[in-house]
Amino acid sequence: MPDLAAEPLVIGSLVDPGGVSRAKAVPASRADAFAATGVGASPSWNVFCADDRLAFTERFSVIGDLRLRIDPAAIRDIGGGLSWGPVTVGTLGGTVAASCTRTALVRTVERLTAAGVTASVGHELEFQLFPRSEPPHGSEPPEVLSPEWSAYGFGAVVDHAAFLQGVVARARSAGLEILQLHAEWAPRQFEISLARRPPVQAADDLVLARMIVRLAARDTGFAASFSPVPIAGGASNGAHAHLSLHTAGGPLLSGGTGPHGVTDAGAAAIAGILAALPGVGAVLSGSPLSAERLRPGMWAGAHASWGLENREAALRFVAATPGTPDGANIEIKPIDASANPYLATAVVLEAALMGIETSPPLPPPVDTHSDDSAPLLPTSPEDQVARLEGSTAARRSLGPDLIEAIAAVRRMEHATWGDKRVEERVERFRFTWG
Ligand code: GLU
Ligand code: MG
Repeated sequence: MPDLAAEPLVIGSLVDPGGVSRAKAVPASRADAFAATGVGASPSWNVFCADDRLAFTERFSVIGDLRLRIDPAAIRDIGGGLSWGPVTVGTLGGTVAASCTRTALVRTVERLTAAGVTASVGHELEFQLFPRSEPPHGSEPPEVLSPEWSAYGFGAVVDHAAFLQGVVARARSAGLEILQLHAEWAPRQFEISLARRPPVQAADDLVLARMIVRLAARDTGFAASFSPVPIAGGASNGAHAHLSLHTAGGPLLSGGTGPHGVTDAGAAAIAGILAALPGVGAVLSGSPLSAERLRPGMWAGAHASWGLENREAALRFVAATPGTPDGANIEIKPIDASANPYLATAVVLEAALMGIETSPPLPPPVDTHSDDSAPLLPTSPEDQVARLEGSTAARRSLGPDLIEAIAAVRRMEHATWGDKRVEERVERFRFTWG
């Protein structure tokens, strides 16, 4: 009997426009063909809702076929015979499909590069572990607060060391750089920070890291939930992204004369992102659970503002200090794990570029914590979709095909789930993302 656990398997995955990861796998002997000719997928992959209903549109139906091609340069060994790589979505004719979400980010980065700006992104993962012992996933949710758990607790790290070691071992095998791991606020909720990378590689790293967390959780008897709200009434899971911007002249977010040391171009980039955020909620946090998280008091950045180390502001400014050796950055907090990380990064970078091009005024930073210190970001699905269809940052970075797909998916998700109780939505989507 061969060693089944070590049989080489190559998994290629994409994140669909609605934010769910989908995959095809091939025997390792077929890896070259996966890269060269690709494997087939129905155009319906573009319009899957989070619950796997299909939001068909004129452009996206059951007719036709796509080719998924794994990026051979990005394939990583994640241990136990498994390799993983991101796929590009192509047409049968060999061109890249307009709905390829990774390519949308590639193109936005090219526009930024042409403007002389280099971006780097460091993603964070938050997730909660659930025992797998009882079907379907050991569904007794942990208490919202527990005497056995302290937020950021030492005991939590020690008690779950086997899980954390599994994550670190697989990450090392895959060449994934983890900066830190810690216990979060809710029982069995953890956070992992990834090293900053060029934007496309950073999004690839995030997808890879979520898969590694999933595998390490499974190895130790758990299932990992990345859901924005894994337990009704409990803590939320964010998917914050730290963004740094540079030109040949140096960093844009430090060394200048603007507020907190930003340069003129840095201020323009922040202003551009701030102005665009209300228009891209359907991309950053548009799932049937996202509005339950994007609220004041959740540290989710529900306010349309920016501020120095302000965890209630959508853009938390992290200044360059001896404690931040990688320099200044802005943390984009409204993003949750139901967002497609390629599209979320693309709309944010496009908005930064639009800011740099037009230099809109930067509102003053908000350094208070009152609920009325700044307006809230829109969370109603109808509002988010209408704004997405009118968003210049979305039009420029995503194009009409992706906007059509996202709008159709969000509308159907809302029609199906909008009037359901939060408990029902939480149960249904606990393990959808990641
Ligand atoms: N869990 C919070 C969220 O949903 C973030 C907490 C933190 O700032 O680390 O975004
Ligand atoms: Mg956190």
